Order: sequence, then structure tokens, then C-alpha cells
Amino acid sequence: MVKKIAILGSTGSIGRQTLEVIESLGEQYKVVALAAGRNENLLGDQIRRFKPELAALSDENAAARLADKNRNSGCTFMGGAKGQLCAAVWPEADLVVMAQVGFSGFESLVAALKEGKTIALANKESLVIGGDILKRLGLLDRERILPVDSEHSAIWQCLGMEPANSVKIARVLLTASGGPFFGWKEEELEQVTPEQALHHPNWQMGNKITIDSATMMNKGLEVIEARWLFDLSLDQIEVVIHRQSIVHSMVEYIDGSIIAQMSTADMRLPIQHALTYPERKKSRVEKFIPFGKTLNFYRPDRKNFPCLDLAYRAIISGGTMPAALNGANEVAVAEFTGGRIKFTAIPKVIKQVMDEHEVKQDPGIDDVINADSCSRRRAAEIIDEQMGRMI
Ligand code: MG
Repeated sequence: MVKKIAILGSTGSIGRQTLEVIESLGEQYKVVALAAGRNENLLGDQIRRFKPELAALSDENAAARLADKNRNSGCTFMGGAKGQLCAAVWPEADLVVMAQVGFSGFESLVAALKEGKTIALANKESLVIGGDILKRLGLLDRERILPVDSEHSAIWQCLGMEPANSVKIARVLLTASGGPFFGWKEEELEQVTPEQALHHPNWQMGNKITIDSATMMNKGLEVIEARWLFDLSLDQIEVVIHRQSIVHSMVEYIDGSIIAQMSTADMRLPIQHALTYPERKKSRVEKFIPFGKTLNFYRPDRKNFPCLDLAYRAIISGGTMPAALNGANEVAVAEFTGGRIKFTAIPKVIKQVMDEHEVKQDPGIDDVINADSCSRRRAAEIIDEQMGRMI
């Protein structure tokens, strides 16, 4: 049987690698819908190559130009938020890959889940900001939300479909590479340039997530992600630094056994696992056994990398606080990448926004969207006010 796939965020890093995996898997996998933001040229190439039934761009004008250029393709073109939503619930699709950037994809995710779709989820913000909402809507179903994030894919592979509240599970050990500045102290971190932060030792990823890896915020967001995906309590999740990125996470059982998932650090593997689940297929990922390597694990340095604790604090506060954390982080990261604030100012800005944020519990979608935009605005103000001083 052919598995039919819709991809939201098809022109981004995960979207492009998903298409590469689908191509390598052969004829049993077919792309039926593609959605992207504004990259009309790349989406145009993807349409010619994969011949989807639907193509959508958030940018209405770009969508119209693309439709005009591909008049005889037999493909339906849509623009705006409606197009994204349509791709998420496309009737032909068995599996929807959610690889958009940011929280804008949340409504598409909710719609797809309500429509009974299975999701391969690469969009972190949906769970970080919206996990609480999904839980209250009864949509957090492990059989239907398949993780693409490499650590969460690893946990899933070690856990199987064992419920997290099972008495057999002691802890989930979420591994972190520690980023390029592992072991650095505050004085050194103050001098970090965007070029240095954008160079990740083990993974090739987009810019935002690479900076988040350097500050450890990425791991903080992943703790929140794991909490919702596997229905874990915070004390069941431990972050472990593992510089080599050979083990991609582990599950510790109550008898002391630890099951780890190991592989080459290549995103095509977790992507493929979500696409082919419950089957496994041959992949183009390089096979390896870590001959001659000693696996090393360390505790994270929470003092010099405070973003990790800020994420824990956000989940303990609950409600709209994770949205405030995420919004402030996105602004601070963009300002750092643009060379306007120091690397060490990123957690300071986020902390101040969180200190001032009035948490609303049991939020609706509008509440988290509001918390997100308020925290972005406040982060920008804080940076303006303090430019040239603390920052
Ligand atoms: Mg990850």
C-alpha cells in the first residue's frame, strides 16, 4: 500500500530532508501536499519533482505567481493561512509532517489531529507553547503524534509504546551535545560572536536552533517537548551532556537497565523512522559502530547556561509562561544573531520578561498568542532600554 504524505514547511531544513528520505524510500511513499512560507522558487522545484495534488504558500502574492507559472501542472494552488490549513487536513494524506517554524503552525496541527491524521511532528513550538492546550483537548495521543526531533525519536525507540506512567520506567535521560561552548565560563561566553555560535560541532541545522543549542535553550525546549509527548513529570526527565552525539537519548528502567539509541548524527534517520513507523526500512544513513570510542556523559553546567533552568521554571509555572519564554527567546536570539546584543544577554532578557509575565492558567489559543506577542514586544523594549549597559 502506498503511504501518502503531506509536508508543511517543505522548503525548510527538515522539509527538504523529508523529501530526500521519501525519494530514497521509493514508490511506496508519495507526496500529496506541500506547504511552505514564501520560498516560491524552491517550492516550484519541489512541485515539478514530486507532483503533489496541493501546493500552498503563506505569502498570497507568491502563491499567485507560482500558480501562474505552473498552470498546466494539475496541482491545486492556495495562498495564506487557508492553504496551510488545507494541506494539514488534505483528505488523501495518511501522514502529515509538521516542519514549519514557530507557533503559526499550531492551528494546522489541531485541525489535522481533529481530522484523525497521524502527525510526524518536527515543530517544537506546538508542544512547548501549546502542549497544555492539546492535553486539555484530549489530542495528545502517542499513537498519532510521532516525534521527529532526534532525542524524542530516540526516547520513543527505547520506550516503544510503553506508557510513561508505567511503573517500569525510572527516568528518561535526554542527551545534549552541550553545543560549541561546553566548559566555557562567563568571561569567555561574554565574547562569543554569532559566527562562533552558528558553528555546531555535530549537527547541521537551521540558524535559530543552532543558537538555541549553544545557549542550551534547545534542550530546555526539548524537556518541555518530552514532558508532553510522553506524559512525563519533570522529575522523570534528566538532561545529560554527551559531547559525541552517538547516543541520542536513553530510558532508564526501575531495575537499573538503561536502553540507549545510537546512530550517526543524521536527521534523516529520525525523519525516516516517523515516516515508516511501525515498519523499518533500509536507509541511506551511514552505518557505524563506535569502535575505539569511550562514551562520555557529564552533568550540565546550569550556572553558566541558565536557559535550561528558565525552561524548567516555565513548565513549573505552566499556563502562558512557556509562550513567554519562547517569544522572548526568539527575539533575543534574533538580536544576538544580528550582532546587537551579547550571547550572555540572551538568558538575561528572557529572565526579565518571565519575571514580569503574569501567568494565565488553562489558556486558550488566543491567550498563548497574546502572551507570545506581549513577551516579544517586551523583550524588544528591554533590549532597547538597556542597549549599551548590561547588554
Ligand atoms: Mg533535538
